[in-house]
Amino acid sequence: MSKVKKVLIVGGGIGGLATAIALQKAGIQTEIVEKQKEWNVYGVGIILQSNALRAIDALGLTEEFLAIGTTHSALHIRDSQGNMIFDAPIHPSGKFNMTGGIPRRDFHEILLRAAMKHDTKIRMGTTVEVIENADSFVYTKFTDGTSETYDLVIGADGVRSKVRNMVFGEIEPTFVGQAVWRYTINRPENLENITMFYGQKAKAGIVPMTKESAYVFIVTAEPGNPWKQEDQLHVQMREAFHEFGGLIVELSEQITDPKEVVYRPLETLIVEKPWYRDRVLLIGDAAHATVPHLAQGAAMAIEDALVLAELLQQDAPLSDILNEFMDRRFERCKFVVENSNTLVQWELLQLEGRLPKEKKPNAIVAQSLMKMTEII
Ligand SMILES: Cc1cc2nc3c(=O)[nH]c(=O)nc-3n(C[C@H](O)[C@H](O)[C@H](O)COP(=O)(O)OP(=O)(O)OC[C@H]3O[C@@H](n4cnc5c(N)ncnc54)[C@H](O)[C@@H]3O)c2cc1C
Repeated sequence: MSKVKKVLIVGGGIGGLATAIALQKAGIQTEIVEKQKEWNVYGVGIILQSNALRAIDALGLTEEFLAIGTTHSALHIRDSQGNMIFDAPIHPSGKFNMTGGIPRRDFHEILLRAAMKHDTKIRMGTTVEVIENADSFVYTKFTDGTSETYDLVIGADGVRSKVRNMVFGEIEPTFVGQAVWRYTINRPENLENITMFYGQKAKAGIVPMTKESAYVFIVTAEPGNPWKQEDQLHVQMREAFHEFGGLIVELSEQITDPKEVVYRPLETLIVEKPWYRDRVLLIGDAAHATVPHLAQGAAMAIEDALVLAELLQQDAPLSDILNEFMDRRFERCKFVVENSNTLVQWELLQLEGRLPKEKKPNAIVAQSLMKMTEII
């Protein structure tokens, strides 16, 4: 086993909690600092692709996921009026030949409970103020006035990572020109699978999350990233469906509360390798934040956690372990980020009627998801 015995994780999101679970299970003492005073995970849900379900299984959490979330056995592709274009099969990853959906709050709760069960120490309302890399340890000072040394510090603090900016310099995400609107609705009877609807101006979808709930989403072009009036978000989201008809429009009538609309301008970022400096490593969105066109961001964060925990069990110098981590993670995460960005560019060209006929967005989705099923 490596000499890494004590690890600080900055950020208690999907990546931070998954890393804590995987490291504690590997016998490595972990501590999380989370800047929020109380957990404040936003509503709506998350799609977990087959490789994400495999990764959740590796964390030992399949039963917990299935107790709340739901699974889908195909992806239905429809036109803007709901007419069938085709049904895409799910590409299996290991034994998982399905995708999953679950409310984000429930998913976070499952990860949090598991991290606590494995004795992860979590300090809320706290972040790092000073990080000093030394040869054999990292010295950290926290905003609550305390200080501590660790063998490894992990920045799992999301797309606007403070750890990244403290240790790697200013690296900012890029707005891609689109935004996504999401809203939780009652799950329609007989809706088993994720269903996507392609219009001329936007694409929309319905994602079953639990037995009773689903969420609708719509991706719109938002040139210049315009400001949105918060108390009008429900009206604007419903208006975004104007070119659609049938089921998705019927369901959009449930969009009545502006506070429940989750509107996100989409951003992308890939930190050049390596994602570590001495004893500080970035994982998850802090290193590779992707737009959700392949629904792979959470999967990549959980895979980062599993690979790191596996490698830290080797009896090898930390720099060798972190180099191997980069060999196993960089190209895969970059592939997700780049293919997702290509999808954005093609969708924006399509909107202007300038997408060459040979460019097929659905083919990129299929090829990318097929690649992601590979065992990490
Ligand atoms: C609109 C949208 C839809 C998406 N849909 C999907 C999907 O369907 N499927 C999928 O797989 N992925 C999806 N993703 C991506 C997925 O949400 C992210 O990839 C994933 O949450 C990354 O986890 P993370 O832990 O790296 O970051 P985060 O989940 O952002 O967690 C970061 C944590 O760090 C904390 N933090 C921040 N700064 C500090 C600090 N200075 N100190 C301490 N703590 C700090 C935050 O409060 C937070 O708890 C989507 C993303 C977007 C934007």
